[in-house]
Amino acid sequence: MIACLGRIVPSADADVSTISQSLDLQGSFESGGIMGVAGKDFGGLYSVKPLALIKPSGTEDIAQVVKAAARTSHLTVAARGNGHSINGQAMASGGLVIDMRSTEENHFKLLTIDGSPCIDVSGGALWEDVLKRCVLMFGLAPRSWTDYLSLTVGGTLSNAGVSGQAFRYGPQTSNVTELEVVTGKGEITVCSETQNSELFFGALGGLGQFGIITRARVKLQPAPNMVRWIRLVYSEFEEFTRDAEFLVTREEAESFDYVEGFVFSNSDDPINGWPSVPLDPDHDFNPVHIPQSAGPVLYCLEVALHYSHTDHPSTIQTAVSGLLERLGFVRRLKFQVNVSYMEFLLRVKRVEEHANANGIWDSPHPWLNIFVSKSSIVDFDRTVFKKMLKDGVGGPMLIYPLLRSKWDDRTSVVLPEGEVFYIVALLRFVRKGPSVEKLVAQNHEIVKWCNKEGLDFKLYLPHYQSREEWKRHFGKQWSRFVERKFSFDPMAILAPGQKIFKRTHTNLN
Ligand code: FAD
Repeated sequence: MIACLGRIVPSADADVSTISQSLDLQGSFESGGIMGVAGKDFGGLYSVKPLALIKPSGTEDIAQVVKAAARTSHLTVAARGNGHSINGQAMASGGLVIDMRSTEENHFKLLTIDGSPCIDVSGGALWEDVLKRCVLMFGLAPRSWTDYLSLTVGGTLSNAGVSGQAFRYGPQTSNVTELEVVTGKGEITVCSETQNSELFFGALGGLGQFGIITRARVKLQPAPNMVRWIRLVYSEFEEFTRDAEFLVTREEAESFDYVEGFVFSNSDDPINGWPSVPLDPDHDFNPVHIPQSAGPVLYCLEVALHYSHTDHPSTIQTAVSGLLERLGFVRRLKFQVNVSYMEFLLRVKRVEEHANANGIWDSPHPWLNIFVSKSSIVDFDRTVFKKMLKDGVGGPMLIYPLLRSKWDDRTSVVLPEGEVFYIVALLRFVRKGPSVEKLVAQNHEIVKWCNKEGLDFKLYLPHYQSREEWKRHFGKQWSRFVERKFSFDPMAILAPGQKIFKRTHTNLN
């Protein structure tokens, strides 16, 4: 229980003009009707009205804003990355929203640390810009990605940042070596594994609770030029998971560079079924090849191998064949294309353009992301995929294995037990059909079922309403999370949209 023993802050319940006058910003302060996107997010499920939107020019501006909020008894501050949260996590009802995108150009410096290349980038930079600049200027690239790159560095590092490279390099939170952070006290602090390490590990996966990440030092590697991108269809879940786990546990030289997967409905539905699998419009999915034993859903293992455009085609073909021959996919249901590395990493941008053209990118997205332990994934498949979601969710249903040993348990991220666990992402795009409320209710039903059956799972990009639920989510890490909050944001000013702590005018401790 939180005791209220701290310093009492003089009540200065300033209105918007007093706040703006108290700030000496290089950037801008907007209030009234011009705050645009500050009260909305990609989820489209929540909308709230902030007091003001601040476009800082840099870290000093951000520190000033946090300090100004701390002088009041009630104001909160939300860093808004690119607002790609689902459940209002980057919002601040009646509070100050900081548009981190306005700082995106502030840092971009290549360094060599212990012989390895790193790049210092702004917390407000989009990963797609980091990619383009690193590849074009230095021929280098970060090692671990998200599938979609119009997300900010600070936004994904506050969660984890997961994609098909995470089995090898860990999530994005395992691929940064230093952060600059503005804490909830308005202090600008540089932190790393060896310097202010509690703040460093707290901020990574910390849901924005301990500080605003203004700069991150990201590990780089030589960027490949080309990618062989392959999709392999399975009718049996056990074979799909066996092969996926086989690939993610092999040595680097004996596996692909990217391993993901998805579930799709065994039907001709254009969005949820067979047509969602081919990578090349000239290569159709021929259902004749689906085994008789197949059930209501099928599985697709998605893999990719990096190569150089100077490699001879036979070299890459031999490498790919050598890897594929050990896998048990349906031989006639294999799809592949060669694309540039940039095209591959920007593949979801194409989906965005398409969805924008169809008017569904801006519609509500009641998404659900769960980490499910290997020990529970067969049960999950049997009930959730094969029964509850057998007709699909109107978008991808991702599922692929990750390795716990590639995650640092000193960060704030919480994972299921066991070395192998799966990320399950239900990326719903709402079209005609069941209402959004029904889809949200179905998400609740899935989580409720996981709890009832005692599955070993944790929500990724979690969203809870009550303190009890958050406590259960963090489990034995809850006390560490609360202690970090006491230390770095004692008045619970930061990231109010996560709904973990309530703003207090005294120190939380
Ligand atoms: P926002 O939504 O703006 O913010 C998220 C949270 O972080 C908020 O609490 C906010 O206050 C806080 N925050 C933002 N910036 C900072 C900062 N600089 N310092 C501290 N706190 C901050 N995730 C994956 O892991 N893998 C994927 O492949 C993936 N694909 C996605 C695809 C799409 C189309 C979408 C919409 C989301 C995807 N996500 C994925 C989820 C995404 O990583 C999170 O939603 C992330 O928070 C979005 O980043 P953002 O910059 O939009 O953050």
